[in-house]
Amino acid sequence: MYDPKSLKAEEFICHQEVLDTLEFAEKNKNNRKLIDKILEKARLRKGLSHREAIVLLDCALEDKNKEIFALAEQIKKDYYGNRIVMFAPLYLSNYCVNGCVYCPYHAKNKHIARKKLTQEEIAREVIALQDMGHKRLALEAGEDPVNNPIEYILESIKTIYSIKHKNGAIRRVNVNIAATTVENYRKLKEAGIGTYILFQETYHKESYEKLHPKGPKHNYAYHTEAMDRAMEGGIDDVGLGVLFGLELYRYEFAALLMHAEHLEAVHGVGPHTISVPRIKHADDIDPNVFDNGIDDDIFAKIIACIRISVPYTGMIISTRESKACREKALHYGISQISGGSKTSVGGYAEEEPEDHKSEQFDVSDKRTLDEVVRWLMEQGYVPSFCTACYREGRTGDRFMALCKNMQIHNCCLPNALMTLKEYIQDYASPETKLLGEALIASELDNIPNEKVRNIVKANLENIVKGQRDFRF
Ligand code: SF4
Ligand code: SF4
Repeated sequence: MYDPKSLKAEEFICHQEVLDTLEFAEKNKNNRKLIDKILEKARLRKGLSHREAIVLLDCALEDKNKEIFALAEQIKKDYYGNRIVMFAPLYLSNYCVNGCVYCPYHAKNKHIARKKLTQEEIAREVIALQDMGHKRLALEAGEDPVNNPIEYILESIKTIYSIKHKNGAIRRVNVNIAATTVENYRKLKEAGIGTYILFQETYHKESYEKLHPKGPKHNYAYHTEAMDRAMEGGIDDVGLGVLFGLELYRYEFAALLMHAEHLEAVHGVGPHTISVPRIKHADDIDPNVFDNGIDDDIFAKIIACIRISVPYTGMIISTRESKACREKALHYGISQISGGSKTSVGGYAEEEPEDHKSEQFDVSDKRTLDEVVRWLMEQGYVPSFCTACYREGRTGDRFMALCKNMQIHNCCLPNALMTLKEYIQDYASPETKLLGEALIASELDNIPNEKVRNIVKANLENIVKGQRDFRF
């Protein structure tokens, strides 16, 4: 029944295969010989299968667990260096016809403020985001064919890309909207989106159907097969994720990796990103109602094991998580974080009144983007506002090929330094600017190719003179 090449959800996320995988891991969690063999394979940086990965996740040997975390950290360094890509979510509308029991936007929630941004309001939000320094957005909208039809999403993307405020620009719009048709995915591709992101929420079909009691999202197969339709529609960068806390984390972990294997088997390209949200408090939502919550230690282990299993897939953590948790997660595998985020509709341009809140979840990390950028630099990371790849046509298998043989490094560091320079030139506070200038000066020496280094130096000077948007 299990077939990673099948296009049927229940065959590529085969329930029995997940159960067998969990049993296999349980039996082998103390199997030193097998764990060593898996770690040896993982050191080749070619990834692991879901069965191998979960043995590491379940591993109960303390010394081996230390090795797992150390390897994740090393793989992270090898593939991503010390760069962290920055982004922000932009909520367009919280109208939604679905009944997801863990989300305050569910249709039955009558007391949350419902909002949908007009194009003028979107322009105001984008200006506010540009004034913070953001270049990369993740668009969010509920599913509502009347209020948020695809035409509205497409028009909004056009508006976002058209706003050029001072030196600002949004250069990459990733989209997180409900599962849709091949035709609509094609339209999104034509609108110039970066990654199409869709969280599975849970891969466990029975739980999925209970957690999504009404609306189009109730259909497990339609939702789970969405990435195949997106790829058929020409979107070759897709982002996976589950909402940890809804189901048993071991089930989700195995199935998430099976989904990645399926994409690779069918389309020749694994997921561009994997997100690791955990369920959080929100209006009408008490996370304690869900009994599968995971603590910070398990969360860190999940991140480390995903990092080892799909080394070339970017990993995202949002401001759902606290500063302390994000700090730990950065070590073990996270390559993209949001900063200065608002999870309400229209929250960037205006503070929402207390009695008219539209947030999707409570933000734990409430720092400004400038504070997050400074914090990253203080820890030796290079915050990057780079959006170069998809603008240079490096998407899908072209991107993955460069990633897998690590050539992407030649672009990432130069682009990170040039976009960081733009940030500190245009938006940074004096303290952040000071740190940033010193960091750029020292990181320049880490560009191995002299010719590239000289081009970057010249571009940095041109940025000071007012030019923008250099990229490799
Ligand atoms: S998770 Fe998405 S689809 Fe579900 S209620 Fe919230 S906005 Fe709607
Ligand atoms: S060069 Fe490509 S992979 Fe590297 S940070 Fe920029 S967009 Fe990402």
